[in-house]
Amino acid sequence: MRQRAVRDQQRLDSGAVTSPKDLENLQREIVSLAKRQGDLEDVVLEVMERRESAQERVAELTERVSSVEAKADDAAARRDAALEEFDGQVAAVTKERELIAASVPADLLKLYEKLRVQQGGVGAARLFRRRCEGCQLELNITEVNEVRAAAPDAVLRCENCRRILVRTSESGL
Ligand SMILES: [Zn+2]
Repeated sequence: MRQRAVRDQQRLDSGAVTSPKDLENLQREIVSLAKRQGDLEDVVLEVMERRESAQERVAELTERVSSVEAKADDAAARRDAALEEFDGQVAAVTKERELIAASVPADLLKLYEKLRVQQGGVGAARLFRRRCEGCQLELNITEVNEVRAAAPDAVLRCENCRRILVRTSESGL
């Protein structure tokens, strides 16, 4: 289009076109071509601006993706560390339990294991202020008297939930 405008201008300048009508047509075409060129330049400019804005958006989104990925990596690392710590605690508690279990008489351990399975994981409960902490029920006076009369090494059971009752200084006896 620009070449055509140059060619038209050259024809006009050369003086080869002499007819007034042809001259007028030529001039009109030059003006029209200049206007179209201007319009196209505006379009090009607008496209470039939009491209620039799209590139900015891409850069911004890329940065956000990186940031989210970094957060996800960080969370995964913390989760792994927590799991590792948890595994360590489980191993330590398991070891501790094995040591304690080894010191408990076999028949008592068997009873405890049976109750533990029956009672949702808790086979023995502390007797605290005359209350069984397994089922939360308070012992009646007859039961309290029975506990008081029992030998220190006797295995006591809660009348309500059947769990092994563990006496302490805070049993309220
Ligand atoms: Zn109980």
